[in-house]
Amino acid sequence: MDKKKILIDPGHGGNETGAIYKNLVEKDLNLKVAFKLKDMLEKYDFEVYLTRYEDKELTLKQRIELTNKIMPDLFISIHHNSSYEDFGNRVEVYYRYEEDGPSLKFAELLTLHLEKYLKIPSRKPFPAFYTVLRNDAPVSVLVEPYYLKYYNDDLPEITSIALFEAIKEFFKWEYPRIKNFEIKNNFVILDVEGRWDAEMSIATIDNERVLIEKRNNKAYIYITKSGNLTVILRNFKGFPSRIFEMKINNILKSYTIDVFPAIKNIPNLITIRFYDIFLQNISDDFEVQINVNGIEYLAKTRDGKISFIVEMETEVYDIRMKIANLEFFESIPLNDGSIYWGKIEGVWDGYGIYEDKIYRIFNGYLFSNVPKLKVIARGFQTIEVDLSKERIYKPDKLFEGVFHHKRIAIIYDYLDSAYEIASRLWFFGANVLIFRYDDELSAIRKVIDFNSEVLIFLKYSEIEVIKHYEMDKYGEKLAQMLSKRLKIFNDYSSYQILIQPFGARVLLELKNLDEDMIREIILGIKDYFESVV
Ligand SMILES: [Zn+2]
Repeated sequence: MDKKKILIDPGHGGNETGAIYKNLVEKDLNLKVAFKLKDMLEKYDFEVYLTRYEDKELTLKQRIELTNKIMPDLFISIHHNSSYEDFGNRVEVYYRYEEDGPSLKFAELLTLHLEKYLKIPSRKPFPAFYTVLRNDAPVSVLVEPYYLKYYNDDLPEITSIALFEAIKEFFKWEYPRIKNFEIKNNFVILDVEGRWDAEMSIATIDNERVLIEKRNNKAYIYITKSGNLTVILRNFKGFPSRIFEMKINNILKSYTIDVFPAIKNIPNLITIRFYDIFLQNISDDFEVQINVNGIEYLAKTRDGKISFIVEMETEVYDIRMKIANLEFFESIPLNDGSIYWGKIEGVWDGYGIYEDKIYRIFNGYLFSNVPKLKVIARGFQTIEVDLSKERIYKPDKLFEGVFHHKRIAIIYDYLDSAYEIASRLWFFGANVLIFRYDDELSAIRKVIDFNSEVLIFLKYSEIEVIKHYEMDKYGEKLAQMLSKRLKIFNDYSSYQILIQPFGARVLLELKNLDEDMIREIILGIKDYFESVV
């Protein structure tokens, strides 16, 4: 087995002393315990690093950068508590926020060991958003073993023994680790390190269980529908991997229908092709129920399509389809071959409109039996096309396409007109998640799940200000651009929701949100995207 890497972070240092009680200084005690722990771990064959080996000041950012450079298997930050009030002595362990994963498991184990060795009660391990814990190490905890008020000279030694025993025990467990993933046909395939057991593991899409298969230690998760996929792999002892989450968009994204030769009163070959979100053929054996002018057919997909022959004395084929619980309807006129088609470049979804009749665009293809259509597609300027003349059309992208497929999350509390921003961004081609702020954790979870590139939290306040988190350089940029557009001062904030999610994130504290401001906010986001390409 490879040596496990442990990174010990003695809290504080230099001018930053941490807690002080009588002649006890927290920064020194943290370092003392760290060194003792390092010795024990090294003797036991761990590879050990400290964030600081002497009494010097380190910023939280430096600690995170160092951690991400070393990439330890476990990160432990050592602190000691103090309090003016006396509410007794107790063990406190904090872990990087997660619902069920190795940081929590380790925090639990650590709490038990400290309780046992220090012979004092403990508080339940607490999920924390502390900056220092937000590193890339798979296990990240912060410990406050006891209150300085209860210090005696034996405690540093006892503390390090407890920490050592917990770490030693923890690595006997061997958690399965999800290293990588790929998507193929209708499977999400996880590359797993360590032993795991398919029966003990769970995969769900929107809380509905889906099948996990084990092939060559890889986990094959069968995707049956769109929604939020959550996977926890467990070994035979039940110890879990970190949660793997991803959003599955419509697995069946689009379809095309060919009717050949599209002439009435003779046999026509109908071919319907189904595509997934990645524009690949959907996999075999999807059941498709078809109804053409009242006559039922049943088929299973092969190479992403179904084909069948229809002969009817009719001018129009009314085709109804049911596949994967989705229903579609298309009315296809048989005009002795006079069906027009054109390709709208860059557009996958959209509509052509002629006298209130709507023709859909599938994967860029547009079929109609009228030559002139007004084409409306999300993210593009409206254009008029003449299908009897040209075959390929290239509409202009709105805002030069800066919003195309960008992932933007909007959270609001009382400013309902936030919906205006979201619907416009959506029309300009962005993927938008919008919801009303309810509680911090669920908001953070939603945003992480959505994986936004830009997060804007619109909050009502009498004092107007734009805030970003100090270590988010993209957020800072976005805040500057919005501040220029809206002429509102920008500032730092450690508001939790700004810390946790990825991408640029800002908090807009506003008195009201009128038409002009909506416009400026959209332009500010546009400035931002243009500045980061
Ligand atoms: Zn401290």
